[in-house]
Amino acid sequence: MQPARARLHAPRSDSRLEPGSERPAAPGSREPAARVEDSIHVALGVPRDADPSDDHLLDEGAYVLSYNAERKVPNWVAWRLDASYLGHVKRRDDFRPDPLLPSGFYRVSERDYRRSGFDRGHLCPSADREDSLADNSSTFVFTNIVPQVHELNAGPWEELEKFERDRARAPGAALYIVAGGVFREPCARIGGGVAVPVATFKIIAVLRDGETAGDLSLDRELYALQMPNDRSVAGHDMREFVTSVDQIEAATGYDFLDRVPVAVQGALERRVSQLP
Ligand code: MN
Ligand code: MN
Repeated sequence: MQPARARLHAPRSDSRLEPGSERPAAPGSREPAARVEDSIHVALGVPRDADPSDDHLLDEGAYVLSYNAERKVPNWVAWRLDASYLGHVKRRDDFRPDPLLPSGFYRVSERDYRRSGFDRGHLCPSADREDSLADNSSTFVFTNIVPQVHELNAGPWEELEKFERDRARAPGAALYIVAGGVFREPCARIGGGVAVPVATFKIIAVLRDGETAGDLSLDRELYALQMPNDRSVAGHDMREFVTSVDQIEAATGYDFLDRVPVAVQGALERRVSQLP
């Protein structure tokens, strides 16, 4: 079945491009929406907080994100996941500064993570984008990466990534995922000032292809998890870290799911759903 994003993706409009922000489209890469707000990846809402000045929205084609130039990490990354994104391309591992960042922004690179003791933790996972070399490669820009302790990155966080892909393999499933860091000032910093989150969170809504925010009713699966970014998570199961969207909204200051009708949004966000 042709995925819904093919229909919903607006044609690229050159009017949105700032000088120097154009990059050649690699074969197989997805066309960005005219505006991040129109991207299929944020069909359930563009997360916003009280201060838009540190939210630089970027459309990576395969996902979208809000970048924080002061913390030098994303505030959040959002992506749709369905079976059409899963495949067998070889992991590219081509970590690199993000060429889409405006010229005045510090460009995080390998050097910032070297000898830091932290993994380069993907928010949109490499394995969620194995349909094409271009999509897989797009997950390796540092705007999609936060410093994560290895015990988290290769522990319950990775377990949750496998869970979301298992769900996405069900015929007709369409997941909407948002992930990011929880920060407590003053943040620990690595390299040239890359902020280290005290925890990372993920919100996963499970819909069906063709459905959108108005279809996220109370009988649907919606999972919220927040995991400490420290070694204490070693050996712990992802199921120990379930929480509510309300708690993640309080911890991050962002409002999620804002396109979901308000009555349903309130009830869904209060709920703590156990993982199966
Ligand atoms: Mn990871
Ligand atoms: Mn909300």
